[in-house]
Order: sequence, then structure tokens, then C-alpha cells
Amino acid sequence: MTKLGFTTRQVHADRLLNNPEHGGVHTSTSNSVLFEFKDAQGIIDAFQGKRAAHVYSRSSSPSVTALQAMLTELEDAEGALCFATGMAAISSSLFALLTAGDHLIVSQYLFGNTRSFFETLKDFGVHITYTDVTDVEHVKNAYQPNTKGVYTETVANPVTQVADLSAIGQFCEENGLLFMVDNTMTPPPLFSAKNVKASLVFTSLTKYIAGHGNVLGGAVIDTGLFNWKNFDNIKSGYQVDDVAQWGLTQIKKKGLRDLGATLSPQSASAIALGMETLNLRMSRSQYNAMQLATFLDNHDKVAKVFYPGLADHPQHFIAREHLTGGYGAILSFDLIDGADPVAFLNALKLVICATHLGDNRTLALPVAPTIYFENTAQERNNMGISDTMLRLSVGIEDTADLIADFETALASL
Ligand SMILES: *Cc1c(COP(=O)(O)O)cnc(C)c1O
Repeated sequence: MTKLGFTTRQVHADRLLNNPEHGGVHTSTSNSVLFEFKDAQGIIDAFQGKRAAHVYSRSSSPSVTALQAMLTELEDAEGALCFATGMAAISSSLFALLTAGDHLIVSQYLFGNTRSFFETLKDFGVHITYTDVTDVEHVKNAYQPNTKGVYTETVANPVTQVADLSAIGQFCEENGLLFMVDNTMTPPPLFSAKNVKASLVFTSLTKYIAGHGNVLGGAVIDTGLFNWKNFDNIKSGYQVDDVAQWGLTQIKKKGLRDLGATLSPQSASAIALGMETLNLRMSRSQYNAMQLATFLDNHDKVAKVFYPGLADHPQHFIAREHLTGGYGAILSFDLIDGADPVAFLNALKLVICATHLGDNRTLALPVAPTIYFENTAQERNNMGISDTMLRLSVGIEDTADLIADFETALASL
């Protein structure tokens, strides 16, 4: 299917990849937890990995497998595994792959809950060095003999720092390190993780991929670029014939099966439906984000706007090189001193005050007292988050309606 355009492939992916029953265009939602084997040898072979089959839906089910095929195609990857949430994908995968004494180099600009999870990993004996990933030199300086990998987001939230993606990918390749990229903010076709040599892609399906704020999900996607023979934590039982499958095999057993944060079949169906329009929604959101960023940047009640599409953004050139499909739809801004962010949010009529991002609707949030409330002022400062910063996740509304809402709310200050 690779010669067709992105949207065409998404619209036809379920039908072409999964061949739904009865000529349907959607894989049906399959609720069975258990699967019958007419011949008992079948279940023995399935348990022993000699035959691919669903045995119990905590580990695999038809609807989730269909979504995994679509995600694999989306990233042009080796394979994918879905989980109940984005956090479940991240935490289950890292618990499955790491062991006490390992060292990871981690972006200091991280989604708050991911950051909190890395603190938990420390309690389990994994060493973490947080570093400024906008320049590969900081990553190189953090390298140690026990370093197993580098973990970063493409565009961080809320301050929109862009990681030095291709340079870090190159460094990881040269040193046999696992390069883990959270691509939630910049799903395909905006950005291709393979182009920067990512090994594993993490994505919260809850955000742009599902897109409608009605379902939770997450995935880890193996791009196929990493040589798992370089990773000495893969248990001998999971060193299957195809080396490219070693990582996902261990994540499936130790992460999905044992930790059990399985995506439900109903959720898988809802996510697959949302994914069909990913590119259309994303293009429109990005267009609106650029318009709003420009509007806010020129407004005298706004002190500073953080959006990679603006020419004065510190990583604008990295973004231009790698975010080939646009600059995403997350932006943050600071009002001028003395303007009350809470009063401003309350004056917005159309824009919804809510956490979450990647939705069809435009959402706004005061970040320091909400998602970063558990962090110290020093930690927030290191992440570039001011006490009054507002984050926007720009949706697909008509541009003029959005600008009008902001204009009125700013005028009321
Ligand atoms: C939301 C988000 C997650 C977690 O996803 P959930 O589906 O909410 O668990 C992880 N990473 C990033 C960058 C996110 O925005």
C-alpha cells in the first residue's frame, strides 16, 4: 500500500490489512476473552509460540491485533503492541526491558506523568540522567558504560522544546543504544520516527490518533531499526528466531501479559475509527495553531508565545527539518505581568478549560498549578515552565471563531 497517499492508506487500512469478515470495512469488535481450540494440540502449540493464535484476550484479541496492524503500517514499522493507555504502554515496556543497574538518558522536558514514572524507575534501581535534549552534546555528556538507551519526546509539552532528533538517533546508532521516542505530539504524517533512527516509538492513542476525546489507549511500536542483539536484557526464552521480534516479544510477555494493562476491544475499535481521519484533523489543527500563535504573538497582552512554527522559536530550524508535515498543534503562552491567567481562562467562551490534548476541540489549561503541581519551583524552572503559563491544544474549529474567542477574552483583562 506504500504508493498511495497517507489519507488514502488510513481510510482503507482496516479493510486492506485485516480483511474484515463479511466484506465489512471495519474489523468487528470482538469481545471474547477465551478462544476455543478444536484440537488440543493447537493450544499447546499456541502456548509454546509454535503457532500464532489468540488464547486469552489479556495478551491478544482480534480487534486489538487489527489496530496493531494499522499502527505498524502507520509508522512503516516492524510491529506494534497496544495498551490500555499511553502511560501503560510506556511503563509496561520499560518495566519489561530494564533491570536494576541500567542507566537511561532522559529528556528533562517530559510529560509530567512520564517524568513521575521515571522517578518510580529510580526506586527500582534504574539510574536516570535528565538532560537538555535540544542539543545532542548534552546527551553525549550523559553517556555511561551502563547506558541502555535514550528517551525523549519529539516536541515537549507545554514549552514545545524540540529534541535534536536526528543527531541523537545517530549517536544511539553508533553506540548500540535503544532510542525511545514519544511521538504523541507529532504523529505521522507530520513526522516519521524512522527518519531519525528511532528504535521504539511510544504514542498515546488517546490524543491525536483517536482524536475525539472518547477513548484511552497507548502503543509501543518497534521501527525495526534496532539490533536487539545489542540489548543484553532479552531473556533467552524471548530470543525468538526473528531477532527483530525480540523486543516486542519480551514486552508482550513481561509487560502486557504480566502487568495486564490491556486495551479493550471496544477501545481498539473506537481508536481505529478515529485514526481514519488523523491527517485531516491534524492538518486543520496545525493550521489553526499557526494562526493563533501568530495572533497571540502580536497581541499586547501576551508576553511570549512558544510554538515551533514561529521563526524565533529556539528550535525552529530543527522543527523545520524534521516536522515535515507541520509544527503540531500545541502551543503555550505567557500573559503580560499583572494579567490574571485564571480570569483569562474564565473569559474564554468557546475554548474549553480542560487537561488533555490532541482533541478536535480547542482546550486551554494553566500548567504550573495543575499538571506540574507536584514538581518543585526549581524543577519547573528547569523545564522552562513559568508560574503563569497557559497551554493550548488547538482543535479543528473554524479559525475565525477561535481568534474571536481569544480576542474577546484578552480584551476583558
Ligand atoms: C498524554 C500523554 C501520554 C500518556 O497518555 P495517556 O493515554 O493519557 O496515558 C504520554 N506522553 C505524552 C507526550 C502525552 O501527551
